[in-house]
Amino acid sequence: MILTIHRGSKQIGGSCVELRSDSGARILLDVGMPLAQPDGSDWPRGTMTRPSDELRREGVLPNIDGLYGDSSPEVSALILSHAHLDHYGLAHHVHPGVPVYGSRGTIEMLRASKLFIPGAVIPSDLREFPADGTISIASFSVRGIPVDHAAPDSRALLVEADGQRLLYSGDLRAHGNRRHLFDDLPEAAGRIDVLILEGTTVGQPQGSHGFANEADVELRLSELLRLDGGLVVIIASGQNIDRAVSVYRAALATGRELVIDPYQAYILMTLKNVYPEAPQFDSPSVRVKFISNHVAKLKDAGLWGLACQMSRAGKVTSEQIAANPSKFVFLARSSKATSALLRYLAPATHPTIVWSQWRGYLDKGGPVQSFCAESGINPLVIHSGGHAHTEDLAEIAYRINPGAVVPIHTEAASQFAAFIPNVRIVMDGEAVEVTSLIAD
Ligand SMILES: [Zn+2]
Repeated sequence: MILTIHRGSKQIGGSCVELRSDSGARILLDVGMPLAQPDGSDWPRGTMTRPSDELRREGVLPNIDGLYGDSSPEVSALILSHAHLDHYGLAHHVHPGVPVYGSRGTIEMLRASKLFIPGAVIPSDLREFPADGTISIASFSVRGIPVDHAAPDSRALLVEADGQRLLYSGDLRAHGNRRHLFDDLPEAAGRIDVLILEGTTVGQPQGSHGFANEADVELRLSELLRLDGGLVVIIASGQNIDRAVSVYRAALATGRELVIDPYQAYILMTLKNVYPEAPQFDSPSVRVKFISNHVAKLKDAGLWGLACQMSRAGKVTSEQIAANPSKFVFLARSSKATSALLRYLAPATHPTIVWSQWRGYLDKGGPVQSFCAESGINPLVIHSGGHAHTEDLAEIAYRINPGAVVPIHTEAASQFAAFIPNVRIVMDGEAVEVTSLIAD
């Protein structure tokens, strides 16, 4: 089996890994959108949906023959580890004849993004992992092993071919609500020849990814909801199911009602089977604040009946929130709709704003940040990141005990060897025989 990391050996985000078996069959693991341009600036709006040939020429799309729509497909499948844009964001450029696989949670998130995000494009041939979790493609067998991460139903991908076993970690952590998945990973994976391991936090200052774990986030939120005498608004990603669970538990513990928007309610509903502990729009002490463009999106998708169900189960109005602000905690998006609502509610409620996602996004500015600045509100940051701390990376590498560890999704590959044995750095675009990586 030959491994090529097309992108990810020296950067966080934009990951793309290719495997070629001895028979010549090829598969791809993730085709992510890089988080930033090479000079560090944000991508211009609409970059992801520009023509494939332009993006390939400019190096935004990895230069992979037989993958895109301009030639007959020579890649047997694309398998996605999880539904973060830096892992799937360019997948719609792949030839429509190439099937794209993902977990139930990944597929649902892609469909939800198409439904709610203007201009979002997703691959045409999306397929869910079969019930036993294993896909057989050409001479490959690929199994998606559940891992703890900030995207729903994330998977590490175990690839077997030519008698070799390679594990691609995707993104993972040990400190979310599903710590047991981290503990169980070595046994689920079994003998591994090569581990391709994410290293987002390697080389970064301790604490730069927020609180140590999700349990601490829940604790801090509970304290805040207990002590704060008014409306608390928590800004988080709608895809961060652990965070929705933490906010819900904190609300229940402090006698508040959790207010969610229809987008959040829809996502939680589609993941009901994967996350039975997550709040639903008809769960006790859950209310839905209708946002007009979310409702319009549901209507456009033929889901008017669902919007009506949400309304009957627990619709709450702005006036009701303004009349009794300390009764509610509002889990909201960083969006124009949220900032408009906050402007309406602020005079009566003097809300406390909690930034509950990566701090870097807060510093970049946006509609909610503008509202805070003009209102003289200093947001509290209560967050725990999606990526394993370095000591957890060391632990998982030790317990899996592979023949070689290849860094990915990191800006500090050269630092892996300080805490992990048998590290082999593979550069972007370098094709290496898997057996050549393994220590004698
Ligand atoms: Zn991720």
